[in-house]
Amino acid sequence: MILRQLTSRCVSAWLCGAAREPRRTGPVVNMVRPSSDLGEFRKVFAKAKHIAIITGAGVSAESGVPTFRGPGGYWRKWQAQDLACPEAFARNPSRVWEFYHYRREVMLTKNPNPAHLAIAECESRLSRQGRSVVVITQNIDELHRRAGSQHVLEIHGSLFKTRCVNCGHVTANYKSPICAALEGMGAPDPNTKDANISVEKLPRCEQSTCNGLLRPHVVWFGETLDSDILTQVEKELEICDLCLVVGTSSVVYPAAMFAPQVAARGVPVAEFNTETTPATMRFTFHFQGPCGSTLPPALERHETEII
Ligand SMILES: [Zn+2]
Repeated sequence: MILRQLTSRCVSAWLCGAAREPRRTGPVVNMVRPSSDLGEFRKVFAKAKHIAIITGAGVSAESGVPTFRGPGGYWRKWQAQDLACPEAFARNPSRVWEFYHYRREVMLTKNPNPAHLAIAECESRLSRQGRSVVVITQNIDELHRRAGSQHVLEIHGSLFKTRCVNCGHVTANYKSPICAALEGMGAPDPNTKDANISVEKLPRCEQSTCNGLLRPHVVWFGETLDSDILTQVEKELEICDLCLVVGTSSVVYPAAMFAPQVAARGVPVAEFNTETTPATMRFTFHFQGPCGSTLPPALERHETEII
């Protein structure tokens, strides 16, 4: 419940752009410099029964997945925050669908990288030993699932799910193109003109007699997270005895509160990132570099694993 309160507060702050600074509200349990000793991490890893792995955009970036955020991150003349919001969809559903159609099609050319694969292999191996691994991800590209991860909590939804704005039905959708009218559309070049597809020809609900407009089942700016998913996240964070934060800044939501909360419980948290973050000093371990390089040796079979 505490987490949920923190979540709503933090999400609101994040959406208002106010969570750029590190939050210093929680207890700080580790103000000594975090260790980068892989051997020490491996000792903790070998004993862990419930491992929670929080992943962010950095993991996808190493597979070449564009984020449409930050300098140079444009689709036509917009960034994600301009199109990934309910207002943009209400104003111009055709443009927003072009954007998501493009992102879905791009994913057909991308593959899981060694970080995704190491996480999936670790889950599979540890499950045979009665140990659990859960991935809590803000990525919507399904690369964890494609790598073979089974227990994945997608807190921001998925590019490959749709939701009917009329009946609310959520379904997996891997069609390419997602509808005939979007075929060949969605080019990212800034000079591309909007396709202006009529709303009847955009993706429509296939539930009997509904035919409502579909939208991507992703959490947009200004929207709240799925409470069922958050409940599962809370449960996992409460039972985990090791937490990894991979490819996310630990400054903005969600790592901004998930991982420090776990650390405040005295549970070891290991950060894998290309740079230090304002939360780094709260964690037990910090491994700097591309997670495709740092994660596989951290998660490989330990000598004490007999199965
Ligand atoms: Zn429907």
